[in-house]
Amino acid sequence: MIKLSLVVPCYNESAALPAFMEELMRVLNQLEDVRPEILFINDGSSDNTLDILRQLATEHPDTVRYISLSRNFGKEGAMFAGFEHATGDYVAVMDADLQDPPSMLPQMLRAVREEGYDCAGTRRVSRDGEPPIRSFFAHCFYRMMNRISNTHLVDGARDYKLLSRKALNALLSMPEYNRFSKGLYEWIGFRTKWLEFKNVERVAGETKWSFWKLFKYSIEGFVAFTTAPLALSSLFGMMLMFIAVAVIVAQIARQLIFQDSVSGWTSMVCIILLLGGLQLFCIGIYGQYMAKMYMEVKRRPIYIIAETSEERRAALSEKTLPNEPVRNDGREA
Ligand code: UDP
Ligand code: MG
Repeated sequence: MIKLSLVVPCYNESAALPAFMEELMRVLNQLEDVRPEILFINDGSSDNTLDILRQLATEHPDTVRYISLSRNFGKEGAMFAGFEHATGDYVAVMDADLQDPPSMLPQMLRAVREEGYDCAGTRRVSRDGEPPIRSFFAHCFYRMMNRISNTHLVDGARDYKLLSRKALNALLSMPEYNRFSKGLYEWIGFRTKWLEFKNVERVAGETKWSFWKLFKYSIEGFVAFTTAPLALSSLFGMMLMFIAVAVIVAQIARQLIFQDSVSGWTSMVCIILLLGGLQLFCIGIYGQYMAKMYMEVKRRPIYIIAETSEERRAALSEKTLPNEPVRNDGREA
């Protein structure tokens, strides 16, 4: 008998949760010798996701747990909260919108239990149903990232993963504030089996990732996993210095030969503008890293818990206890 924890981050997923729960339970019931634990993380939803989770925890007290965060911390924060509180021998993380098919779980479990892998990852081989512009930028991101960083990212890899306890502990040993899970999964190493599937559209509700949010997330990926842009800016600087020296020599020679220095005004302005722009560009790159360091140095928690299923259960049972003796007396109905 092994224990499998499923971490499910939820942000305004009330529309998708019933269908998700039904499909997940269907798959879990087919798994023999597996004791499941479904750990929902309510990431500060503003709809009635929390109510649904409370109800699910009451209906399935043995399998369903939830953690409700005090506000929206983003998917990364929610996943980390789930990883820290998962108690299983194996831990899987999946979206609540059925875009990560639960039917792949048996295959993933087989990979880590019987085939000697530590992780089972999934990747989409198609991006059907996604706006083409989003797919285009996603491909560009992976190509660039893999060229300049040592951490190799698999194109189309989802956050949907199953990890052994060993791999999970490795992931937990990185309590950094600016998290980019796809990179962290790769960084910890271990043998990963990649399973492929075709993109599925979400069952209900809509995506929580706007183009702007995705853009900021990709910057996160760059800054967290490579310092190449820092080197790039010094390279730029050096090239410019060489050019500047050559130009100075040429200018002095010209002045000595023709003696018409006023005519150089236009080129001066061009050079000043170019250099000013480049300096700002480089300062911007430094700024990115400084900003990340600033956030990291604060050592802030990655998430804050407002309520858990255990707390609620305890609170509810305390409330009902005092009533019980009265009822048992038979004097009051
Ligand atoms: N999610 C979250 N916090 C957020 C945004 C998203 O917990 O701030 C969850 C969301 O509920 C879902 C998963 O992360 O279970 C993936 O989000 P979504 O389906 O919107 O992303 P997409 O599949 O479009 O990339
Ligand atoms: Mg989705």
